[in-house]
Amino acid sequence: MSIDDDAGGPARVLVVGASASGLTTVEALRRKGHAGPITVLGDEPHAPYDRPPLSKQVLSGAWEPERAALRTRDVLAALDAEFVFGDPAVALDVVGRSVRTESGRELPADAIVIATGVRPRQLPGQQDLAGVHVLRTLDDCLALRGDLLAGSRLVVVGEGVLGSEIAATARTLGLDVTLTGPLAAPMALQVGPLVSGVLAELHTERGVKLRLGTGVVGLTGEGGRVTGVRLATDEVLPADVVVVAIGAIPATEWLADSGLELDNGVVCDSRCRAEEGIYAVGDVARWHHEGLGRLVRLENRTNATEQAMAVAAEILGEGRPYTPVPYFWTDQYDAKLQVHGFLPADAEVDVVEGDLTARRFVARYRSEGRVTGVLGWNMPKQARLRRQEIVDGLDAPAPTH
Ligand SMILES: Cc1cc2nc3c(=O)[nH]c(=O)nc-3n(C[C@H](O)[C@H](O)[C@H](O)COP(=O)(O)OP(=O)(O)OC[C@H]3O[C@@H](n4cnc5c(N)ncnc54)[C@H](O)[C@@H]3O)c2cc1C
Repeated sequence: MSIDDDAGGPARVLVVGASASGLTTVEALRRKGHAGPITVLGDEPHAPYDRPPLSKQVLSGAWEPERAALRTRDVLAALDAEFVFGDPAVALDVVGRSVRTESGRELPADAIVIATGVRPRQLPGQQDLAGVHVLRTLDDCLALRGDLLAGSRLVVVGEGVLGSEIAATARTLGLDVTLTGPLAAPMALQVGPLVSGVLAELHTERGVKLRLGTGVVGLTGEGGRVTGVRLATDEVLPADVVVVAIGAIPATEWLADSGLELDNGVVCDSRCRAEEGIYAVGDVARWHHEGLGRLVRLENRTNATEQAMAVAAEILGEGRPYTPVPYFWTDQYDAKLQVHGFLPADAEVDVVEGDLTARRFVARYRSEGRVTGVLGWNMPKQARLRRQEIVDGLDAPAPTH
């Protein structure tokens, strides 16, 4: 049943988190005809903006920061929602269905959508040193860009997607860049050994120094400013600027006393419901994916949009289990990688189109006899056309062992 069918007129919706998934939830609600009051609460001082350009076009300076805005003022105003910026939610009352904010607002609602995303993981002591950055927000991006323009030696700690993108962008700005992390190649965890080997060649060719396969034990500093990154081998990589990109933690600290199940995100059923009338969406949500038969949490831009549309439908009584084929992309130099589905570490990988050496190919990932994922490297259309193989793999009966 739709919440709007209840007596007392159209229901009130509160969205906590004013970014991609929160905004898309509001837009989908309005598009589907929800006429009740909507409040969007965000802790950042900015109107909703997009994060992918923060490690690419905005960091490089190709875009002015304003271009990352997700919508114009007029488009936001036309949503007829109340936007509250710069006031973090600090507590959720599940039974009373209400949120309290840092400034003391009490925001009751018939449906509450948790869209608070993730926060960067940090190294111990990094906040005490100038020149050490994380990259999640627009303010992080502008601070990092300022330091990159002033410095010459950058060390990126973390060889995942974000660290690899930052290394590529900083290299194009002319910095001396070292990428370090415990795995053998950039994005090895996300794309496996074959494709990460090609990425390692690309970064090396473009002049990034790879100091991989060794952990980081800490930072060195002098006079309150960072001077280097200490590796587990005791070697110190000298640096004027350091970016720590070692993953993220779901922003659920404000829910600690709520009674919701929190376990690497807000745990939800297959319809993204954490409790009656309470939903989670985007990077913070860990929901039961019926196609996979397990809990899944995704940190990617497409999921923020697709899950928001699913949650809006669920709020209005039109929902069904959310079973997406995940999708993410990354841009590094002239390479655009597009990943559909899941790429498990133990997958068998074969190149089904194009050529690895030409750096234009489609790789297919298979696990337990099913196609679980497809990766395109500068072959967007060809990769997309193979998506159906993943859908067929999701629909096939699970192996019995
Ligand atoms: C630099 C960067 C580059 C990226 N590049 C890509 C890419 O190339 N491809 C891709 O697929 N994905 C990319 N992503 C991931 C993508 O941006 C995220 O998946 C997406 O932003 C998730 O949206 P979200 O709304 O769920 O969370 P977020 O965008 O994190 O938004 C959550 C919002 O909630 C706010 N918040 C947190 N706690 C509270 C609170 N207590 N009260 C109120 N508000 C709160 C946060 O400050 C934030 O504004 C990138 C991410 C980053 C950071």
